[in-house]
Amino acid sequence: MIVDYHTHTFLCKHAEGDVDDYVLRALELGFDEIGCSEHIPMPGGFDEKHRMSLEEYVNIYAPSVSEIRERYKSRIRVRRGIEADFFPGTEDWVRGFIKEHDFDFVIGSVHFLGSWGFDDIVFVHQYSERDVDSVYEQYFQAVRKSAASGLFDVIAHCDLVKKFGHRPTKSLRDLAWETLREIKKAGLCIEINTSGLRKPVKEIYPSDSILEMIRELAIPLTLGSDAHSPGDVGRDFDRAVALIERYGGGHIAVFEGRERREVRVSRVVPA
Ligand SMILES: [Zn+2]
Ligand SMILES: [Zn+2]
Repeated sequence: MIVDYHTHTFLCKHAEGDVDDYVLRALELGFDEIGCSEHIPMPGGFDEKHRMSLEEYVNIYAPSVSEIRERYKSRIRVRRGIEADFFPGTEDWVRGFIKEHDFDFVIGSVHFLGSWGFDDIVFVHQYSERDVDSVYEQYFQAVRKSAASGLFDVIAHCDLVKKFGHRPTKSLRDLAWETLREIKKAGLCIEINTSGLRKPVKEIYPSDSILEMIRELAIPLTLGSDAHSPGDVGRDFDRAVALIERYGGGHIAVFEGRERREVRVSRVVPA
């Protein structure tokens, strides 16, 4: 089975295409499942430049995922997901939102360290004003807390802090290991996210050294392109599938109604 569990749409204001465009691309590629995982609406104007409003979720996104799921159900399974931000202080709101809507899976992401949107190109200059070692520490601590929050099924791009190519001077091993142990304890899976190849770092998330630890801990893997344009659906999945073979025993996690099962991954064979 081959799936892409991480896709966006024009509604988040920094992507293009609607749900239909992404699903059609997945169909062209011969995928078995596609997950629609737009950025979650947040309360109080939180990062509103990069996401849809609650009204847009309710009136546009959710109904269009339902309609398109129904329209293509004999050809591809369309899964209802959401990419939810982990941000201290908003957990109750996020928990309420997830409970109220009917998701197949919830991806948890850390995009902020305090008020700093560290993966936003607009604020990239702040890396040079900060100690990169402590940025890495704060980032992995936040991911650890996100895993322990009980809100999510999948940990997104788990070493996103490398996005612009900034590297710590110290070994990442202990930091990553403690974080992965928390992810394992919480029973979550981790996505292989190919979008890093399209960013300055030019690497898949997570790195091989983290994937080695993931294999050691037997944490399940899933697959996502983090497509912000329909042409990015399934991009570089030949490389991702090779990593699944190597570090995930050839199995991927898939979801329905937030129930996880593991299936054999297959190669990308365009229809
Ligand atoms: Zn995005
Ligand atoms: Zn995303």
